[in-house]
This record gives sequence, C-alpha cells and structure tokens, in this order.
Amino acid sequence: MTAHALQVTLCPTGFEAPLSEVEQAIQASTRKFAQIVMEPLAARLDKLSAAEVIEPDSPYWQLFSEFKKLGLTLGELLQLPAGERGRLMPIIFEELGAGDGGLAVSLGASLLPWLMIYATGKTALLSRYPEGSAIGCWGITEPDHGSDTLDFGRMCAQPGSEYGRSNCVVRPQGDGFVVDGQKAAWVSNGTVAQLCVLFAAYDDGSGEHKQCVVLVPLDVEGVKRGKPLEKMGQRALPQGELFFDGVQIPADHLLAGPGAEYEQAIYAILTEANALMGSIWVGAARRAYEHAHGYAHERKQGGVPIIRHQNVRSRLFHMMRRVEAARALNHRVHLFNATAPVPALQGSIASKITSTQTAFEVASDAIQMFGGNGVTREYPVEKLMRDARSSMIEDGCNEMLAIKGGTLLIDRERL
Ligand SMILES: Cc1cc2nc3c(=O)[nH]c(=O)nc-3n(C[C@H](O)[C@H](O)[C@H](O)COP(=O)(O)OP(=O)(O)OC[C@H]3O[C@@H](n4cnc5c(N)ncnc54)[C@H](O)[C@@H]3O)c2cc1C
Repeated sequence: MTAHALQVTLCPTGFEAPLSEVEQAIQASTRKFAQIVMEPLAARLDKLSAAEVIEPDSPYWQLFSEFKKLGLTLGELLQLPAGERGRLMPIIFEELGAGDGGLAVSLGASLLPWLMIYATGKTALLSRYPEGSAIGCWGITEPDHGSDTLDFGRMCAQPGSEYGRSNCVVRPQGDGFVVDGQKAAWVSNGTVAQLCVLFAAYDDGSGEHKQCVVLVPLDVEGVKRGKPLEKMGQRALPQGELFFDGVQIPADHLLAGPGAEYEQAIYAILTEANALMGSIWVGAARRAYEHAHGYAHERKQGGVPIIRHQNVRSRLFHMMRRVEAARALNHRVHLFNATAPVPALQGSIASKITSTQTAFEVASDAIQMFGGNGVTREYPVEKLMRDARSSMIEDGCNEMLAIKGGTLLIDRERL
C-alpha cells in the first residue's frame, strides 16, 4: 500500500464521527439552503447600501421565505431529547454560518423573542405571536451602555463605578407597562423586525437600578426606527436603532421581572446566543478555508499549483487545524449545555471567542493565500474577513466576555 492510498479525504465538516440519519438529512438540507440561497444572496446584498438592503424589492426578504421551507422551528428543536438537540444545533448553525455570517445572525436574532418566550415559560403568548409569524430582534445595548448591558451582575465593572442613566426605561402603568427611550444602532434586524425581546431598565419609582425583559410588538404607536446602519462587515444584516415614545404594552408581555428573574433571563440568552455565535463563526471560518483550499489547487505560480509550495501547504494545514479545534469546542459546549442541569455561560463564551477569533484569522490567511486577488471584491475572501471582524464585537466584545468568563471560573469557597 502506498502512502497515497492511506490519504484520507475529509468531508466539509472534517473529522466528524458518523451522524445519525436525521442529522445527515438536516445537515444536507441546511447546507443546500446555505449554498443555493444564502451565499449568492449575501454576495448581492454586500454590494448594496444599507437602505437598499431593506427596500421592498430587495432580495433580502427571500431569506425568511426560503428558510421557512426548511421546516426548522425552535419549538420543535426544543422538544427534542436534550442530547439530540445538543448535537443538532451546532450542525444547523455551522451550515448557516458557512452560507453567510450576517444572514445567519439575522435568522438567529429573529428567533430570540421566541427563545425567551420558551425560556421564561410564557408560552400563552404563542397564540398571539406564533413562532415564525414575524421577524424578531433582541434590543439590549444602548448608546450609552454597550458592554455594560451585557455585564449582568456588573462582574466587569470597575469598583466604585456607577452605571448611570439608562437610555431605555420600562415603567409600570395601569394594568401594564410603558416603554420610553431608545436602543443602540446595533440592534440586529432593528430596521426590519416586528417583534422585539427588550432587555431594559425597570423604573418602579424606588430609585434603584433594576432591569426587566418585555416583549414589544414593533408595529404599535410610539415605535420609530433609526436609519439603516452602514458598516464594514455583515452588510447583509440590517441594523438600526429602535426608539420608543410612551409605548404601551400589556401586563402579560413582561417575560422577566427585576432581580433573580432578570438574571436568569440574561444568563439564558447570553448562554444560548454565544454558543450559536460559536457555531455560525465556525461555519464562516470553514468557508474561508474551503475557498483557500480550492484556490491553492487552481492558482499556478513557479509552474505548479501553489499547493505544491511547502509554505502554502503548511498555511492550509494550520487553517484546517484551527477550524477543527473551534468546531470541536463548539460541539462540546452545545452538548454540555443541552444536557447539564444548568448550562455553563463560560463554555458558551469560550466557544464564541474561539470561533470568532478563528474566523478572523482564517479569513485573513485566506486573503494571503489568494495574494493580490484576496483583497479585491472580485473574490469572496475579503468579505469573510470583514464579516468576521464584526463578530469579535457582536454579542459582547471578546475582551469583556473573557473577563466575564474568567469571573465565572472563580471558586468562591477558596477565597
Ligand atoms: C454585528 C453586530 C451585531 C450586533 N447585534 C446586536 C443586537 O442584536 N442587539 C443589541 O442590543 N446589540 C447588538 N450589538 C451590539 C454589541 O453587543 C455591542 O456593540 C457590544 O456589546 C459592545 O458595545 P459598544 O459597541 O457600545 O462598545 P463599548 O461597550 O463602548 O466598548 C468599547 C471598548 O471598551 C471595552 N470595554 C468596555 N467595557 C469594558 C469592561 N468592563 N472591561 C474591559 N473592556 C471593556 C470593549 O471591550 C471595547 O473594546 C451588535 C453589534 C455588532 C457589531
């Protein structure tokens, strides 16, 4: 047997142990959707202005109509046995991320109001807001409070520092609540969503800084949107401010009240969102590797395909190795979180940081592999690097998340 005969050809998801029939079928249909719908769609949207992306005749809207055809709903995924769900979620979201990071975030953010309805057990709201009936979004960050809003329990805050005034406040009024103020221009789907899961300050007149989670339909009086945000990466993902002026919401739209309820809700959404970000950006990293792998076989320099040059092979190997490591961590974290009595936020954070950093580094290496072509808009890899750069800030800046993750490692009994 020659050494060549012993060479193993890897599938797109690398060193993957055999999947069940259901997993294979879902992976294949999601991959097809990513390749046929998402990737070409994102390439078109990347070249449009932020305003054009959300015009009524924009191709962006196909994302949701075509995704629906896949038949994947959060409600059904949540009903799966924990182990099955923990294996399926990273498979699905990696494929979406390989299709396009920005559009995968748009789909993921759209699910967040329902994720929180299920997480808080307020499922009576499903009759009014059936899953999939609207585009959703998550409003948490504010112009004056970005990292601060994600730092529940103020684990990363400087000793003695004050939180200061919130930009968005929910107040009890009559039988329900009223919302005033604004959320940051960064709200994913902020310009297109019809339902927002809003994490905001709660003012009950006590003067204490409290927070709550409410569901806010965005087609009601008093809601205004900011202008679509122009940005360097994830340009297919619509983002913009949400403004609230005396917006009235019924009492049953309170998903989590102040104190322990709020802490549980923010823990739940950060744990889920960071783990899903881990999957999405493994997908984007894999796509950058795939492009580099293909180009290394096609491009000839010095009379040979560049993959014949040792340094090119070595670079490609390190790219593959890093994608594999990020995927392995992400799969472990999803499975742990799905099956453990309490999911580990530090695990989700570890995966989010690893995947986003990997996507950025692997996309940058892919540019190097493409040489001059890598930095032109004619080739796909510069977009992947722009997209990945934003991911290191999205859902929490990686450095702030690392401090939070480190805080969660402290064994308080040993101090
Ligand atoms: C693509 C994208 C999608 C997003 N989607 C959403 C969304 O759907 N909903 C939403 O509400 N928001 C969203 N965001 C906002 C995102 O969560 C914030 O941008 C992020 O939390 C950082 O906040 P900031 O931009 O205000 O930066 P700042 O908080 O002002 O941070 C600036 C710098 O200071 C550092 N820093 C701040 N505080 C600390 C600290 N305590 N310790 C150490 N370093 C610190 C940060 O790491 C960073 O380097 C999105 C952002 C992006 C880029």
